[in-house]
Amino acid sequence: MKYKFMRFPEGKTKAVTFSYDDNGMSDIRMREVFDKYGLKGTFNVMSYSIGVEGRPSTDNLKEAIANGHEIALHGAHHAALGNLRPIDGIKEVLECRQVVENALGRIVRGYAYSDSGIGKMLNGASYSDIKQYLSDLDIAYARAISGDNDRFLIPSDWHAWMPTAHHTNPGIMKMIEKFVSMDVNKCYCGERQPRLFFVWGHSFEFDNNNNWELLDEICEGLSGHEDTWYASNIDIYDYATAYDRLVWSVDNKRVYNPSLMPVWFDVDGKLYCVKSGETLEL
Ligand SMILES: [Zn+2]
Repeated sequence: MKYKFMRFPEGKTKAVTFSYDDNGMSDIRMREVFDKYGLKGTFNVMSYSIGVEGRPSTDNLKEAIANGHEIALHGAHHAALGNLRPIDGIKEVLECRQVVENALGRIVRGYAYSDSGIGKMLNGASYSDIKQYLSDLDIAYARAISGDNDRFLIPSDWHAWMPTAHHTNPGIMKMIEKFVSMDVNKCYCGERQPRLFFVWGHSFEFDNNNNWELLDEICEGLSGHEDTWYASNIDIYDYATAYDRLVWSVDNKRVYNPSLMPVWFDVDGKLYCVKSGETLEL
């Protein structure tokens, strides 16, 4: 065995996901657009915006989940964790998680940093402390910002998950073109890792800029491709984690899947699937 790469469900080589912040009413319109194109998004909500007039109702958020979207956390007060002492950062995340979980009646583990996030550190905050308390609070991943690039990589640090681009990035349509035209299985043999396209922003920006047709363009470009998995942020985290937790023999000829989902991978150009609980002989 020389090269081994994760593949998404059904052996797909690429995935597309979205992350939209602040729980505004235009999220409802955005979710309708995603549903029309068969796309899945993650919507990040502050706890103070739950059950409040002028915001999507709790029933609407539950409906979004039923349609395959994720509702994730965006802080109790929309505060930048990089500006808070650890004790205040812990309260910011924990309070949000408690309120949102109770409102939705489910476990919520996704987070998107608010405000300047981890972009600058004040008041004795440090990234290592933030990562530590997010892990202690069972936050699976935290989406950061300002990392726009067209490498389409799965994050190596889930608590500093940089999206591909904000939807206003002037190069976004070119990046989409590059992404959809890429045939991962035909890349150089050492470069056949799975690829991810991750768009973020705020749905109210489409109202403010009066350019909802841009969302249609983005969705049209990214949707409907057979080699692509359309998933929420937590779907991608859960799947990639299941892959990372496969148990391999020393000679890599035997693999055990302790997770509850089937996992696909490619070894030297050959596609395999190891089912939940199965030990597969390669
Ligand atoms: Zn925000």
